[in-house]
Amino acid sequence: MYMPVLEIDLRRLEENARTEKALLASSGIEVMAVNKVFDGCVETAQAVFDGGIQVIAESRTYNLKKIRHIGCTTCLLRSPCLSEIEEVVRYADISLNSDATVLRALSQEAQKQGKTHQVLLMVDMGDLREGIWFSDYATILAAINLIKSLPGLDLYGLGTNFNCYGTVLPTVKNGDDFLALAARLEADSGVAIRRLSAGNCTSYHLLDKGIWPQGLNHLRIGGLHEFGIEYVEMKYLDEFHHSQKPVDKACSDMYILEAEIIELNSKPTVPVGELGVDAFLQSKTFVDNGVRRRALLAFGRQDVPSDNCVPCDDAIQILGQTSDHTLVDIEACRQPLKVGDKIRFELDYTGLLMACQTKGIAMRFKR
Ligand SMILES: *Cc1c(COP(=O)(O)O)cnc(C)c1O
Repeated sequence: MYMPVLEIDLRRLEENARTEKALLASSGIEVMAVNKVFDGCVETAQAVFDGGIQVIAESRTYNLKKIRHIGCTTCLLRSPCLSEIEEVVRYADISLNSDATVLRALSQEAQKQGKTHQVLLMVDMGDLREGIWFSDYATILAAINLIKSLPGLDLYGLGTNFNCYGTVLPTVKNGDDFLALAARLEADSGVAIRRLSAGNCTSYHLLDKGIWPQGLNHLRIGGLHEFGIEYVEMKYLDEFHHSQKPVDKACSDMYILEAEIIELNSKPTVPVGELGVDAFLQSKTFVDNGVRRRALLAFGRQDVPSDNCVPCDDAIQILGQTSDHTLVDIEACRQPLKVGDKIRFELDYTGLLMACQTKGIAMRFKR
């Protein structure tokens, strides 16, 4: 049975994880690896774990259940649903939290299971997704005191997140504010906050520029070791394995989608007839480039959107896509192609996310 194939380079993923861990450790920063883009893939979690990162995070509890047998410490990267507390305590050693009701439920369940559940208490420094709002000091302090008082819970650290909903950049200013908030909380609660978890891969730009706020000692990272990209200045980093493509594509050849040619011919570049809208209700315009050689590929928007993949061969151009077909222009392609051959694409973060989610793509691992 045919399926497009996603090939993941595990050796480079492992090496990138090792590089990242060492790079951050040299600045006193501990890292937790985020595996969520791979949707609970055990092999990628194993690669990152083999690279030396002990804690692996996922945003779904059922994915933690899949990966935990590799021996890693597991973290649920979002606040637990009240309806899944039992599984959270069972499969996650750590979870991100910001709600007192959830904390009480976690405490009860942890006691029932005879465990200590680690809490990364989230504060919102401005990005407007998860966390107690930074200026709501009394609520943050009360949450810390609650965690201290509840049996079965332990404070893993204080965390914040940037560049997600609100696209707020991690800066020296909000980093320093986070540090000051933590110091005040420690003084008022008498609780030592062991980790200040300052954000995701976008925080790396502060380190790259040498302006890291001293004292922030933890990050939760996926995209940096997965793509080798520094996402604020949008550049590939020399320290990591990454793509040779222009950085504006934000893709990596560590993730190759391979799809089969099902039709190969020469056709006009402008459709013939009266034009309406496509299956996604979009109207289109076409540039007349005459008759050109093109290939029809057996994958489509339901697998990986064409905006999120780039042909490995620069001479190949994506013409467009429907649900289950992708059209490429191969007029300038030097390699002789025939029906049944495969065309390869590099994927960006969204493309990888989609490819890992769908049951219509087979995974293959390269070592
Ligand atoms: C996704 C996520 C991360 C990691 O993000 P990357 O961009 O992959 O580094 C970190 N923290 C939280 C809360 C997240 O949801």
